[in-house]
Amino acid sequence: MTTKLYWTNSHIKRFNASVIAVVEQAGSRVVVLDQTAFYPTGGGQPSDFGRIDAAHVIGVEITDEGRILHQIAGDPAFEVGDQVECEIDYPRRLEMTQQHTGQHILSQAFFQLFGAETRGFRITDRSTEIDLTLDQHPEEIERALVRAEDLANEVVFDNREIRIHEVTPEEALKLPLRKESFITDCIRVIEIADYDWSPCGGTHAKRTGEVGLIAIRGWERAKKMTRVHFVCGVRALRDYRTANQAAEAIGRRLSVGREEAENSVVRLVDENKRLSRRVRELAELAARVEAQDLIDATSEVGGMRIVSRILDGRDFEELKLVAHRLVERESVIALLATRENEMARLVFARSADLSADMNSAMKIACENLDGRGGGKPDFAQGGGTRVSELKNTLELVAERLRDEGKKG
Ligand SMILES: [Zn+2]
Repeated sequence: MTTKLYWTNSHIKRFNASVIAVVEQAGSRVVVLDQTAFYPTGGGQPSDFGRIDAAHVIGVEITDEGRILHQIAGDPAFEVGDQVECEIDYPRRLEMTQQHTGQHILSQAFFQLFGAETRGFRITDRSTEIDLTLDQHPEEIERALVRAEDLANEVVFDNREIRIHEVTPEEALKLPLRKESFITDCIRVIEIADYDWSPCGGTHAKRTGEVGLIAIRGWERAKKMTRVHFVCGVRALRDYRTANQAAEAIGRRLSVGREEAENSVVRLVDENKRLSRRVRELAELAARVEAQDLIDATSEVGGMRIVSRILDGRDFEELKLVAHRLVERESVIALLATRENEMARLVFARSADLSADMNSAMKIACENLDGRGGGKPDFAQGGGTRVSELKNTLELVAERLRDEGKKG
C-alpha cells in the first residue's frame, strides 16, 4: 500500500518519499513510493503528471491492492531505498481539481432542481462531461441547463467550505449522500457546506471559489441520457477567450458588434442564396445568347454546323450550359473546350436529328490529350493533361465528323 497524500490534502505541490519498488511494466519503468501526492487515473479524472527527482512522470495508476504505480519516461536508475524529491505538475492538477469539484457542484444542482442523477462523469482534454438522467424536450433541457448553471455558480460565488470526512459504512448510512457508496472499510465523503455530500476519491478544492466559473458548453443525447459538456476555472477562462476572439473577429468582418453578428450572418446567408439563384438565371440567359452568336459565326457544311471552340476562363458547368443550348437546334454538333488548372476539359454534344457518336469522338479526343472521358451517343465529356494538343485535337475530331457526315 502507498500512503495517499492527495487523499487528505489536494494542494501538496512537492513532497519527499522513498522508493519501495521498481518494476518493468509493458516496456516502461514503473516506480512505487512509500507515499505519494500523485493522483492516479480513476473516477473519471486523469492522473497527475510531474517529476520524481529529474525523471518525468507521464502516468500514474493504482492497482487493486492499492499500490500506486508511477510511470516514468526514459530509463532512470531508481533503486529501492532511494530518497526522492517529487513535484506535481500543479497547473494541471489545479485544472483537474477545478473540473472535478465543479462536477460535484453541477451534479448537485441538477439533482436539487430536477431530481436528475449523474450516471457518468469524465474529464477529457477539452471538456468535462456528465451523463444525466434528464429526459425532456430540447427546449426544456436548454432552460434546465441555464437554471443549473446559475445555481452552480451561486455556490461558487458563495465560496463555501469543502470538507473531507472519512467515515465507516454505518456512519455513511446516516449522511445525506447524493449517490450510493461502495461498501468498503472506510468511506471518504466530500461535503460542500450546506449543499452536497458525495463519496469520492478525487482531488477537490478547499472552497468552492477555487473552482472558478462553471460554464456549460453544450449538450447532446447519449445512451438515452443527457450528456452535458462543461468547463470550469482555467478551462472556462481559455474557452471564454477563444469564443470571444472568434465572436469579435466575425463582428469585425461584418462591421458590427458581436451581439449583432448572428443577425448579420443570417442576412448574408439569405443574400447569398438570392444571388446564387440570380447568377444561375443570368448564366442561362448568357448561354442562350452565346449559343446564338456561335451559330451565327459558324457556316453550315453538308447540312450541319460543327461549332468547335475553346472558351477559356469558363468553368465546366458553363461549358455544358452553352453546349445544351447549341444542340437544342437542328443539325448542330458542339465541340467545346476550356483550360482549367493545367487541364483541358471537353464537352461534345449533338442535335437529336444527327447520328454522329459523341462517345467515340470523345474517346479519340481524350486519347490525344492523354486523358479520359466518355458518355452517350448525343453527349459526352472528358479531359486530359496535354493542353498544348487541345486545338489540334478539336480540329481532328471536327474533320472526322465532317467526313462521316459526307459518307452518311
Ligand atoms: Zn470528487
